[in-house]
Amino acid sequence: MNRKKYIVWYIFSFIFLFAISSCSKEDKTVNIFSIQDDIAFGQQMRDEINSNPAEYPLLSKTQYAEAYQHIYRIRDSILESGDLIYADKFAWDVDIIRNDTILNAFCAPGGYICVYTGIIKFLDNEAQFAGVMGHEMAHADRRHSTDQLTKAYGIQLLLGIVLGNNQSQLAQIAADLAAGVATLAFSRDAENEADEYSVKYLYQTAYDARGVGGFFQKIEGNPQPPEFLSTHPSPDNRYDHIIEVWEGLGGKTGETFVDSYNQFKSTLP
Ligand SMILES: [Zn+2]
Repeated sequence: MNRKKYIVWYIFSFIFLFAISSCSKEDKTVNIFSIQDDIAFGQQMRDEINSNPAEYPLLSKTQYAEAYQHIYRIRDSILESGDLIYADKFAWDVDIIRNDTILNAFCAPGGYICVYTGIIKFLDNEAQFAGVMGHEMAHADRRHSTDQLTKAYGIQLLLGIVLGNNQSQLAQIAADLAAGVATLAFSRDAENEADEYSVKYLYQTAYDARGVGGFFQKIEGNPQPPEFLSTHPSPDNRYDHIIEVWEGLGGKTGETFVDSYNQFKSTLP
């Protein structure tokens, strides 16, 4: 067996054993992507989204510059919390998708955030919205997509990508993902972690850190489960868990910023 083959088999066996030994515990897959893979993957997804205006009608950044200023301001306060590992490495670019009927947001690996106008209009204040943004940014910063991808595509295919032999398949997966973001859901452990980090990020800002909990409280009474729950499945006692994390940090009450949020909403079409 030549050296390259040996290394491939060695890595494969290691990951295979790791996957088997951890399959009883959800969400403990090894991350075989590099940070550069995350960034490249996010860019691929972003290109797919940009080239599909029928599915993703993006709000123009020049025509709706004011709306983007608001969303960048909110994103920047989260990044300035100092709690993101890849605050300086990932792009943290944001696009607003014009669709008032969809209550969802997502963040591709490498920090490419997409937010539907539907969820912006649905929420009542900026702390809730910042809570949702923090949750999405946590999925990228904690690199949860790897688990999602490993479950969906299998370790062997991903290994091929990591070893650089499979660039066309990387593009194909990005295309698949962009075509059906709603079909790939995070694990409940990843959801819990994204909720926790949302609270941690916001706790360092002027926002009330329970913002993301406000969103879940608000959708609870909704007769139709929003799209958000199809890509972000709800763990048990989600709201209680958010409050626990907030209390653990000291239970500081922050601002909700209703006025600036209404201004943000008024800049949308
Ligand atoms: Zn989520």
